[in-house]
Amino acid sequence: LAPSYRKWPESLWRDVTLSPVSKPTLLSVNEALAGRLGFNATWLASTEGVAMLAGCHMPAGVLPGAQAYAGHQFGQFVPSLGDGRAMLLGTVQDCEGTSFDVQLKGAGRTVFSRQGDGRAAIGPVLREYLLSEAMHAIGVKTTRALAAVATGEDVLRERALPGAILTRVSRSYLRVGSFQYAACRGDVTALRAMVLFAATKLYADRDTVAGDENPDIDALRVSLFDAVADAQADLIAHWMSLGFIHGVMNTDNMSIAGETIDYGPFAFLDSYVPDKVFSGIDVRGRYGFNRQADVARWNLARFAESLLFSEDDDAIAPMRDIIDDFTSRFQRRYRGLMAQKLGLPGGNTEDNAVIDGCLNILTAESMDYTRFFRTLPDRVADVGGEIALRNPRAYKDWAEKWAARVTHRPGGFKMAVDIMSQHNPAVIPRNHQVEKVIVAAEGGDLKPFHQLFDAVTHPYLQNAIFEAPPTREEEVHTTWCGT
Ligand code: AMP
Ligand code: MG
Ligand code: MG
Repeated sequence: LAPSYRKWPESLWRDVTLSPVSKPTLLSVNEALAGRLGFNATWLASTEGVAMLAGCHMPAGVLPGAQAYAGHQFGQFVPSLGDGRAMLLGTVQDCEGTSFDVQLKGAGRTVFSRQGDGRAAIGPVLREYLLSEAMHAIGVKTTRALAAVATGEDVLRERALPGAILTRVSRSYLRVGSFQYAACRGDVTALRAMVLFAATKLYADRDTVAGDENPDIDALRVSLFDAVADAQADLIAHWMSLGFIHGVMNTDNMSIAGETIDYGPFAFLDSYVPDKVFSGIDVRGRYGFNRQADVARWNLARFAESLLFSEDDDAIAPMRDIIDDFTSRFQRRYRGLMAQKLGLPGGNTEDNAVIDGCLNILTAESMDYTRFFRTLPDRVADVGGEIALRNPRAYKDWAEKWAARVTHRPGGFKMAVDIMSQHNPAVIPRNHQVEKVIVAAEGGDLKPFHQLFDAVTHPYLQNAIFEAPPTREEEVHTTWCGT
C-alpha cells in the first residue's frame, strides 16, 4: 500500500487523523479481488487486517489522506467538497501491474467533513458492495468492493443505524470535480499534475506520450479530454443498456477513469419507464434515466472548462468539437450494445429500427426490462403468448420483424441466442431484493446478503429465485442517498 498520492501537489490532499471505533468486526471480504490485488485475504480478516479496514490502526507506512475536490451538485457549483467520509490508504498493483487506489468509506471525519460525521450506515455500505461487484460481473466499469466491516457503533440518521465501513478500490478517485477544484483556485501546478497522471496512467494505451520524458501538457489536455469523453460515452451506454440509473451524476461523482462511482440512490429499472426518477432528493428529475447521456455531456463541458489555462486557449476548439460529437459517440455505443442484447449484428438502419421498435414496445407495455431480453428467444414461436399485452398487434408486428432479422443474420437464430445469453444478465441486483438483505443485515443476519451477492456476481446464470421481477407490493419506487 504505497501512499503514492503523497507525490501529488499538496493542494490536492490532506492528512487524516484516524478516529478508531470500539468494536470492529468483519462483515465481508472479497477474496477474489483480494487475491488479484496481492492482499492476503486471511490477513485482511485477522485482528490486524480488520483494524486497518476499520480505520483504527494502520500498518507501518500506510498514511491515510483525504482528496480535495469541488463539484456541481444538481447544477450548483460548490468550490470545496472533498473526501468528507472517505480516506485514501494508498496504491496497490494487480497481477498485471495495473495500479489501484484503495480507500475506506465511512471511517470517520476528515478536514472536508463539514457538518457530517464521516461515517456510513450498514445499509449504504452493503448496497455499494453488492452493486459495484454486480456491475463488475456484468462487465461495466466500476469502483470495486474489497471488504466491509461493522464498526460496532451506531450512526445517527433519521434513526440510529449500525455503522459500517466499505473498503473500495478504483483505478483513480480523480473526478471532474478534482479538476474543478484546482481550476477555480487558479492552481495550474495541480492541474498539470492531474493531466499528466490521468493521460499517462489511466489512458496510457491511447496516448502518444509513452516514452516521452517531457510530454506537452497543452496537447495532452485534449487527448485526455477525448479519452474521458469516450470512456463516459461507453459507460453511460452500458448503464442505459442495463436499465441502470445512477441517480446523482454531480460532477464530483463523475470519474476521470470512466468508472461507475459513488453509488447513492441508484436503481435498476424493473418495468421500462424511460423518464423514471428513483432518487428521493432529485425532485426536478435532473438525473432521470433517459437524461443520463445529456447530463454526462454537460459534465464534460464543465471538465473542458476546468482544463483551460486561458480565455483564448487553443484547446477550446478541439474540445468543443469533442463535446459536439459526444451524443453520436454515445448513440453508436448504445445502439451497439442494444443490438447485442437483441442478437443482431447492428450498425445498419434495419437493425436500428428493430432496436427503436423494441424500446417503443417496452415503453408502451411497461414490461420488465431485464426479463424481456432474457426470455425473448423462448417466446419466438409464441410471440407474446406468455404475457398479457395492451397492444398484442404492435408486439406481434415487432416480434416478427425481430425474428426475421435474427434468422437471416450470419450464424442464424442459434448464433443470436448465444450472443443474447452472453449479453443479457439474468440476475441484476433488483431494488426490492437489495432492500430485503439490508433489513436483514441491520438485524444482524448477513446470510441473505451473501446469497444475493453470490447470485449477482454470476449474472448470466439462470437463477430461479433472483431472476424474478418484484410483485406489485414488492416494487420500490424511491431510493435515498443514505450516508
Ligand atoms: P456524495 O453525496 O456522496 O457525493 O457526497 C457529497 C459530499 O458530501 C462529499 O464531499 C462527501 O464527502 C460529503 N459527505 C457525504 N456524507 C458525509 C458524511 N456522513 N460525513 C461527512 N461528509 C459527508
Ligand atoms: Mg456528490
Ligand atoms: Mg460523491
